[in-house]
Amino acid sequence: MEQYQKIWDKIKYQLQMTLDDDVYNEHFFGISNVFKVINNTIYLISPNSFIKSKIESFYLNRLNAMLNEYLPEKHLFKIITKEQAAEEIAKTSSYEINVPEPDLESKYKTGLNNSYTFDNFVVGSSNRLAYTSAMKVADQPGVVANPLYIFGDVGLGKTHLMQCVGNYIIENDVNKKVLYVKTDQFIEDYAKAAQKKAFDDFSKKYENVDILLVDDIQFLSGKTQSQLEFFKIFEKLKESNKQIVITSDRPASELYEIMSRLTSRFEWGLSVDINRPNLEHRILILKKKLQAETSDPDLIPESILDYIASIFDNNVRELEGALKRVLFYCTAFDYKFTIANAEEALKNLINSKNISNKTLESSNFNNVLDIVSSYYNISTSDLLSKKRKKQYVFPRQVSMYILKELFDLTYKKIGQIFNNRDHSTVIYSIEQIANDMQIDSIKKSDIDKLLVKCGKKA
Ligand code: ADP
Ligand code: MG
Repeated sequence: MEQYQKIWDKIKYQLQMTLDDDVYNEHFFGISNVFKVINNTIYLISPNSFIKSKIESFYLNRLNAMLNEYLPEKHLFKIITKEQAAEEIAKTSSYEINVPEPDLESKYKTGLNNSYTFDNFVVGSSNRLAYTSAMKVADQPGVVANPLYIFGDVGLGKTHLMQCVGNYIIENDVNKKVLYVKTDQFIEDYAKAAQKKAFDDFSKKYENVDILLVDDIQFLSGKTQSQLEFFKIFEKLKESNKQIVITSDRPASELYEIMSRLTSRFEWGLSVDINRPNLEHRILILKKKLQAETSDPDLIPESILDYIASIFDNNVRELEGALKRVLFYCTAFDYKFTIANAEEALKNLINSKNISNKTLESSNFNNVLDIVSSYYNISTSDLLSKKRKKQYVFPRQVSMYILKELFDLTYKKIGQIFNNRDHSTVIYSIEQIANDMQIDSIKKSDIDKLLVKCGKKA
């Protein structure tokens, strides 16, 4: 039951991220608890029949699709009203939540989501090393790098890549026992075993595996008993050349309140990091996600994918969320896929991103504009203007490049600074300068100097 509640909490969070605030608040905010689960049907209680029927007509398919991303077996949501729930409770004098007993004979549970495959993981410079390392490990588990330790910020593909390893191994040999577990789950399993003082099932689950995938190991922080237990399991598996893959939000050396004999072992094998994807990489990811969402790969024009990729530059999960939001908004209301509609669909997300940009002092930008315009002997207003003479265009492109380099502003934001220019102009300008710097060493050294003047650490 707890498992279903956690999934519902996650789905709710996803909905909150992808729906407009008022839509979310009206339909989903009030649905907190999973009422019961019977025969793979998960019951949720809506406040009234009006909301129940709105959810059923507009959102239920989507909810079910989201649900099945979390569970290996097909499950469905069912929405009932408060009154229906009250009736049910009245009928059963001692109300019991009815979760089917897990079938003991049922096949070995891996915890894997089989949609995470190498095929749909898009490779670029930010993740190439992690990807090739994971491939090698999947090809020869226990041999090339043990443990494989993958780290990086949230939403950059660690879980996806780790699960690729498990899915690949099972696909090639169904007899291999793979176990994917989130660190939270490990801690919970251990606590349950300790409470009952019965460790058999626990040990069986974690020690009788060929491949152990442990996600988000940073959550072991401060959990001394679980760490000791994990240490024992680690030693056992490692000794018998069973493959271990670990993910974390930081390098092993920076883990906090985790005993050093564990963190040092994490460094025994191979540590690889995943970084933020660049613009081209983000566009490729969007194309791949679009392929998975729809049968028509040209449904959304490229200019809109560029637009989404230029704004959501931080995290692949957000990027994917933005795409789904645009898809949903335009298909649900039968709108054309235009920049204006995409902007409307993403309004709330973009606004909340701008708030964080505001924390950057605007005086910093002005400083850059002053330095660049005086370097090229033009006025700041010419720099910001739409005048197309070469003497203005080049310095303008240079200042856009510097703003991106130093402040990592979104293309949209830079466009706004320059008299509301379109984000595509900004992307073009920055690429132009990056090219110039590759082929023209004089320009490169000029711009490098300017970067330092504007505050880049030499
Ligand atoms: P993390 O575990 O690092 O927080 P996830 O693995 O959960 O991130 O990734 C978040 C979302 O982004 C997932 O839906 C995942 O499929 C997607 N994703 C991340 N990186 C890639 C990539 N390189 N190619 C395709 N999808 C990706
Ligand atoms: Mg993850």
